Amino acid sequence: MRRYRVGVLAVQGAFIEHEQAFERAGFDAVEIRQLADLEQHFDVLVFPGGESTVQRLLLHELGLVESLWRMIDSGIPVFATCAGLILLANKVDGERNALGRLDISVKRNAYGRQLGSFSTVGVFCGREHVRMTFIRAPGIECVGSGVEILSRYEGNATGVRQGNIVGLAWHPELNAGETLLADMFLSERGRVC
Ligand code: GLN
Repeated sequence: MRRYRVGVLAVQGAFIEHEQAFERAGFDAVEIRQLADLEQHFDVLVFPGGESTVQRLLLHELGLVESLWRMIDSGIPVFATCAGLILLANKVDGERNALGRLDISVKRNAYGRQLGSFSTVGVFCGREHVRMTFIRAPGIECVGSGVEILSRYEGNATGVRQGNIVGLAWHPELNAGETLLADMFLSERGRVC
């Protein structure tokens, strides 16, 4: 059987952790660093955590925005984590985000800065006891009517899905993330969760 190929945006941030988690799950992970990298076929696109302001700048500088967003709009499964979620949110800290593809408003660093990092256990997509690690995570303040909530922390949405995009404020690549990411990908293809 053909191995699935994951394209991981690798301009800044925690891309290596995503690559390693997918590789442990038996996927091929390819880094997206420049326009030429987008000429390959991908089965899933990953926007990792990191620093969203830096990532946004680099995406523009490297001329990646149009091609990446065309891929997103073509319907490829997209997993966005933390800073990745911020890049794709329609509104960030009250400002409209031109790159937005998720009908949500987020507040950056809503759980506090360095000391606001923590880990908890919750339900994700009906799956219980999923460890969720928050690292200077954004808060999802508002979700549009077409957005499904996949996880919550203290009642607030921390994971969402809209169309082909799954966005998480927490880090699925950590804490035995390989099974979670593989399951997420397979369920996105079959939409079982
Ligand atoms: N606080 C970061 C930002 O605003 C996100 C942190 C993360 O991705 N772990 O971009």
